[in-house]
Amino acid sequence: MTAESAMAAQKQTHTLHPSILREYDIRGTVGDTLNDNDCYFIGRAFGTMVKRRGGAKVVVGFDGRESSPVFAANVIRGLNDCGLDVESIGLGPTPMTYYAMKTRGMDAAVMVTGSHSPLSYNGIKMAYQSGPFYGAMVQEIGKLAASGDFESGKGEVITVDVQDAYVDRMLQDYQGTRDLSVAWDCGNGATGEIIRRLVKKLPGKHVLIFDDIDGTFPNHHPDPTVAKNLVDLQKAVRDNGCDIGIGFDGDGDRIGAVDADGKILWADLIMAVYAAEVLKEHPGAHIIADVKCSRVLFDEIERLGGKPVMWNTGHSLIKARALELKSPLAGELAGHICFADKYYGFDDAPYCAVRLLDILSRSGKKLGDLAAHLPQMENTPEVRFHVPADRKFSIAPEILARLRAENADGVSINDIDGVRVTTKDGWWLMRASNTEDVLTIRAEGFDTDGLERLKAQLISQLAQSGIGSPF
Ligand SMILES: [Zn+2]
Repeated sequence: MTAESAMAAQKQTHTLHPSILREYDIRGTVGDTLNDNDCYFIGRAFGTMVKRRGGAKVVVGFDGRESSPVFAANVIRGLNDCGLDVESIGLGPTPMTYYAMKTRGMDAAVMVTGSHSPLSYNGIKMAYQSGPFYGAMVQEIGKLAASGDFESGKGEVITVDVQDAYVDRMLQDYQGTRDLSVAWDCGNGATGEIIRRLVKKLPGKHVLIFDDIDGTFPNHHPDPTVAKNLVDLQKAVRDNGCDIGIGFDGDGDRIGAVDADGKILWADLIMAVYAAEVLKEHPGAHIIADVKCSRVLFDEIERLGGKPVMWNTGHSLIKARALELKSPLAGELAGHICFADKYYGFDDAPYCAVRLLDILSRSGKKLGDLAAHLPQMENTPEVRFHVPADRKFSIAPEILARLRAENADGVSINDIDGVRVTTKDGWWLMRASNTEDVLTIRAEGFDTDGLERLKAQLISQLAQSGIGSPF
């Protein structure tokens, strides 16, 4: 590139739609708030940030949405124009892109994915080798694009197939002794091909449903943390007499599971099963879980000799905290679970599945029995409801102020993310979403009467802030 053309390239500026720059990633509606040209400038801005940190190489992958390959090509062009070399690994789950970053000497990763968002959406997740990319870093993409303050150069792109290496790496941590029968629901998301390759090498019997990658998600929405999306998996488990069923979200960074009876094991209870395993080799370790998780998980970590850490919701925040505390296991109710005991510390749902099968196989027990000793709590699911944007973040402080003024006996208040109140009946949570204009609430009691009292307290607090009952 001549000095003149380099200068011309530096003068290019581009305004990204502000709504697409979110807390943990970029997401917008295809062709509307997020188009091919936007993707070029996102690549250019991210590439600039990577280069200014001394980076030279970036891996790029994409999911099964129709717009994803072209979006990825535009991101790659933007990275190359910063002078960064790119390894393009093609279609696969988000964790495969992170895997390639960690194992192939990459400085950063870009994944074009709309995760489980509706069909009209797509998005971009970014990561640095050294940790998650979120918050102010995402905002910086918009600022750099608008100012045109880009690095320039001429990078190269090569195509690399990491699928078999990725599958083999996951299988390294499978030491099962008993063959299992497993149902897998890929939800037509980006995990399909990887799971097909994985089960060829895993012992046991495997039933795959919706493993054809189809970004129109013709069967059900690819979000295994919502009960209605697990109905097909429950049926596959029952029809085939499976020991376990495993589901993934659209880009494979979130896991869901059902036991042999088709009963859902939510991610906080899956984490309780993992915690028992991880704490054997890492006694006394910090284990991180978000504020939405059951107290059963925190109590269990403590019972097993670990140090439970209740942290903010948000996979990037959980990952950042896990790095700080060198935590071998961290996760959230939404199904992002990160192993750093033998693995790389990112949220990899196929890998989590392998670890769950490993534990289940060696235990000689049923999945339901692995969690059977845990107290049976009465709880609500995560209830989400819309609130005006300008009220979203003001309600928690109002509730906190009232509760602190009351200073009621036997009540403890955690304000790490919203309000989580623990009473003799159990606990309730109210927090504002970082990504949408919604409040999330959840309550969990030792019995149904206790749960009703907790819900009544929560409803009363919301009412005092002018919000109607969401139950
Ligand atoms: Zn996802």
